[in-house]
Amino acid sequence: LSVNDYLRQHIRTVPDWPAPGVQFRDITPLLQNPRVFRVMIDAFVHRYMERERRPDVVAGLDARGFIIGAVVAYELGVGFVPIRKKGKLPFTTVEETYELEYGSATVELHADAVREGDRVLLMDDLIATGGTMMAGKRLLEKLGARVMEGAAIVDLPELGGSARLRESGLALHTLVD
Ligand code: 5GP
Repeated sequence: LSVNDYLRQHIRTVPDWPAPGVQFRDITPLLQNPRVFRVMIDAFVHRYMERERRPDVVAGLDARGFIIGAVVAYELGVGFVPIRKKGKLPFTTVEETYELEYGSATVELHADAVREGDRVLLMDDLIATGGTMMAGKRLLEKLGARVMEGAAIVDLPELGGSARLRESGLALHTLVD
């Protein structure tokens, strides 16, 4: 069984959540089962342990990106920084607003979270339209850091987000399509 197929079996699809017509891909069963959790984390760790891919810092997107990003950072022996929804970070921040299907969202990062020239691994649980990851990338670039790769457990390729992110020049790595 490939990692892709193994992990896929542990993703739960919840129909009509959070709104009618949406098929929500629930990743909590991946975290709940310790063997599956380990396979998933190790897949990321083995990739980013490689000398040429090793980041200086891991940035995680609010909120499920914190769960995997923090564990991967810990295993790599590098720091972790959270990119949060607006209004949660106490210190000086930089912010980035992006469009959603209805309305907009703003994410923030502490101004001293990364340094100019840092090579950052940007992590989230899932890529749909790609808007969230794109906003995270712009935020890190505002501080002079470089996002060496975006990583997520799940890509929903039919929504076109991953293709758009790659077209913008962001390298991506996902475990399950
Ligand atoms: P995007 O910005 O790419 O459209 O949406 C991705 C963001 O929304 C991620 O932060 C992700 O956590 C959340 N998201 C959107 N749809 C889903 C879904 O079906 N399952 C999960 N787990 N997260 C989703």
